[in-house]
Amino acid sequence: MSVFTLAIHGGAGTILKNDMTPELEKAYLDGLQLALDAGYAVLEEEGSAVNAVKAALVILEDNMLFNAGRGSVFTKKGVQEMDAAIMDGSNLEAGSVAGVRNVRNPIELAAEVMRNSNHVFLSGKGANDFAIKQGIKLEPDEYFFSQFRYDQWKDIRDSDNYSLDHTHQQLEELMKDKKFGTVGATACDKNGNIAAATSTGGMTNKKYGRIGDSPLIGCGTYANNNTCAISCTGHGEMFIRAVAAYDVSCLMEYKNLSLQEAMNIVVNEKLVNIKGEGGMIGVDAKGNAALIFNSEGMYRGMKSSAGAEYVAIYK
Ligand code: ASP
Repeated sequence: MSVFTLAIHGGAGTILKNDMTPELEKAYLDGLQLALDAGYAVLEEEGSAVNAVKAALVILEDNMLFNAGRGSVFTKKGVQEMDAAIMDGSNLEAGSVAGVRNVRNPIELAAEVMRNSNHVFLSGKGANDFAIKQGIKLEPDEYFFSQFRYDQWKDIRDSDNYSLDHTHQQLEELMKDKKFGTVGATACDKNGNIAAATSTGGMTNKKYGRIGDSPLIGCGTYANNNTCAISCTGHGEMFIRAVAAYDVSCLMEYKNLSLQEAMNIVVNEKLVNIKGEGGMIGVDAKGNAALIFNSEGMYRGMKSSAGAEYVAIYK
């Protein structure tokens, strides 16, 4: 039996202790802990890494604090369009969705694409049609509405700007209603199988069907038992250009680097060189985990049968 491990994130960015109230900090840490416990319970009960990352993400998607599922940001058109992906490192199966609307848990839909379609990546209306056909839970627009997200969008909707959910300019605004972050999880189960999952509402005021790195296999999400399972968060355009998640896997496969070494190169050298702010979490098939970011903070947590456990926000 291998060491089993779960790592999660709830987004990275300019997250400073000075900008945080004790109540807000507690709400984030509690939200992370809940997701960590849910995912870890699956691993403890002999569940698969795939089911563990899914369980953790459903909890984070249902939490209004995070920019995924229920808490997703508004697009230029004033709606929520969500992206998600999941990958099983034991067989390289993967499922992704982009630009889906009214889906309560986009990660469930991505998993359904992986298991029960002949495809890997579905988008827009087609993905929604597939959700209906497969009986995936939908919610009305009101479910996704929050005054804060609306106000955040109203401020920039008449401009051509789009923004990450956690840039410094927005921080004071964000703090009023206390929300941030794309969500992700990576797990290694008792059988040494690994998996990764990522889910996001993307960027506020995004338009033209913009899709970030999160649902792109190899960019924001990747898993392969021979190397690593990775989930990214940050400025998606840069993570796409860096093919960030797969680059970690390549460094491990072709250069024999450890998970920590490979992630460190991608996050603190390659992404920094192209001004790609953010971070990533990863596990390998031995149950090692790493959580690395080049921003001020990253909502994150990990728990391992080897004994380590924590949830954290700042550097
Ligand atoms: N990477 C996500 C995107 O660009 C955003 C985030 O991580 O918060 O869509």
